[in-house]
Amino acid sequence: MTLSSVRPTLKGFKLPPLSLGHVFFFGVYHILALTAPFHFSWSALGVLLFLHWLTASIGICLGYHRLLTHRSFQVPKWLEYVLATIGALAVEGGPVFWVASHRLHHAHTEEEEKDPYAASLGFWWSHLLWMIFLFE
Ligand SMILES: [Zn+2]
Repeated sequence: MTLSSVRPTLKGFKLPPLSLGHVFFFGVYHILALTAPFHFSWSALGVLLFLHWLTASIGICLGYHRLLTHRSFQVPKWLEYVLATIGALAVEGGPVFWVASHRLHHAHTEEEEKDPYAASLGFWWSHLLWMIFLFE
């Protein structure tokens, strides 16, 4: 019996194998985040909100999604690298991985076994959980 033969399912979908490196990284990351209330300051909160906007809105939505995946607009190459670097700071994977998985998502929105983050598997799967599993 192999580990992959006993994979759990989610709403009937046989989950791919877990990425133990990602589980460890996200686990440590969130355990450390539990210490945040003991180090609170208003300036740190401001930095958090700014970095959240920068990495999520500019890095992922503008850079990874609209620019690199869908080629919705063009920018000079140096700005493309800057946006890709900001996207990488969001810790959702490198630009090649993100673009490839997002193109699979759009190509297979009706086939949850081929869609890396099928919305039909729920909010948590489509926004977070897909990142801790290995896809071919
Ligand atoms: Zn898209």
